[in-house]
Amino acid sequence: MSEKKRVAAYCRVSSNLEGQQSSMKLQQKVYEEKIGANPDWELVAVYSDEGATGTMVKKRYGFMQMMEDASEGLIDVIITKSISRFARNTLECLESIRELQEYGVQLIFEKEGITTGEAFSEMVLTIMAAFAQEESRSLSENLKWGIRKRYEQGIDRWVCVYGYTSNEKGKYQIVEEEAEVVRAAYHLYDSGKSMGWIADYFTKQGIPSPGRKRWDASNISVFLNNEKYVGDIRLQKKYTVDHMEHKEIKNDGKVPSYYIKEHHTPIIDRKTYDRVQVIKSMRMRGKNQDATGHIQYPFGDYVICPHCGEPLIQRKLEIQDAGSYLCCENEACGQFILLSSFVSKAIMEAYKQLDLQMLTKKLEAQNEEQRAQAAYALEYKKTYPEFPTVEYYWLDDLIERVEPGKHTTMPIVAKMLKGKGGYVEDDRTISIYWRCGIKTTVFSGVKKDKDMPQCVKSLVLAKKERQQIERA
Ligand SMILES: [Zn+2]
Repeated sequence: MSEKKRVAAYCRVSSNLEGQQSSMKLQQKVYEEKIGANPDWELVAVYSDEGATGTMVKKRYGFMQMMEDASEGLIDVIITKSISRFARNTLECLESIRELQEYGVQLIFEKEGITTGEAFSEMVLTIMAAFAQEESRSLSENLKWGIRKRYEQGIDRWVCVYGYTSNEKGKYQIVEEEAEVVRAAYHLYDSGKSMGWIADYFTKQGIPSPGRKRWDASNISVFLNNEKYVGDIRLQKKYTVDHMEHKEIKNDGKVPSYYIKEHHTPIIDRKTYDRVQVIKSMRMRGKNQDATGHIQYPFGDYVICPHCGEPLIQRKLEIQDAGSYLCCENEACGQFILLSSFVSKAIMEAYKQLDLQMLTKKLEAQNEEQRAQAAYALEYKKTYPEFPTVEYYWLDDLIERVEPGKHTTMPIVAKMLKGKGGYVEDDRTISIYWRCGIKTTVFSGVKKDKDMPQCVKSLVLAKKERQQIERA
């Protein structure tokens, strides 16, 4: 008997705004009345969520409930105010819409005047969703103009990229066997291999190259530089200079370009992608390379000065094959100095000592983030019980900060003093604070007089003086 459409509404308000509580109730009331006023409609429910800010909402229970009810065939139509209220980003928006379409649910965006359905253009929505996403980040009018213009010109055309194919709707679809190759390239590069090495490896493995010839470093470079693998796209990367010849040149900033995040399903997770970009720029600068050509990864900002808390800076020590040292360059501080090799060894030792039982216990921590990090660290420990070198990738994944002791005790007591955490804090120790909330303190290994900060400092100063004399 019921020819009526079962209609639901979805609304979301920001809870950091004053008076939001009433705003939520008001929105619900408006929708209830609106749906009730239409004789062809029957109200299912008004689903709602409130969150700190538009893009920061973590769990949207109202939204999740709505999707569940839709999957059970309880809803025909969903009304929502705008794209930016409906979804937190482009990808989520498109995925939810596709899912709802599968359930035969029609979606109405009031502000944009879009109704999903047979004649609905997914491309318009892609643009609109990206637009809404960027709008919430308050980008300039200039950029908005960029997409609009581009949309008018219909330039969002398919560009062939290894690892993806376009489906009948012109959307990016992952080609799994190619995606595996891309992932392998990122993984190998991330763990210290060069682009040339990876190309040779792929050739030896008999993997067909994108160019049908053998693999070379430029293929790998293209992989590592392409933002499409992390799910983003850059519009207007190239622009046409000569319309007659259709010659395209690289966009060097003359034309506004537009970067859309989370445009399609990624092959590489963002963390790995970002890290690879850092490693690439490091290698390009040719820094941190020792005599054997092995790249010395810097400790980033992880190691901090025990006196002032500022990150220690890594510098090359051109004396006695000593490698590099870490020092505090805060003028007001006592200029703490420690050889990098001690820090590396201590980190490796601490990792070795990282106890599986302790990690397992952390899986029940109060803090959700710590539980996740503990699970991650456990995975690491099971795969790699020890590491022979400190590499950027695991340092970055597991460590929150590294804090050396003050190394001020003179004369040196070789015997380790048993304290609360195993050793006396203010001494020749290095403490590693793991992301999962565990702290491991180990002996720094600084034993001889020449290893102490004061002595390293005098060596460095002596070297500088000698250079000045040589120059003069
Ligand atoms: Zn300092």
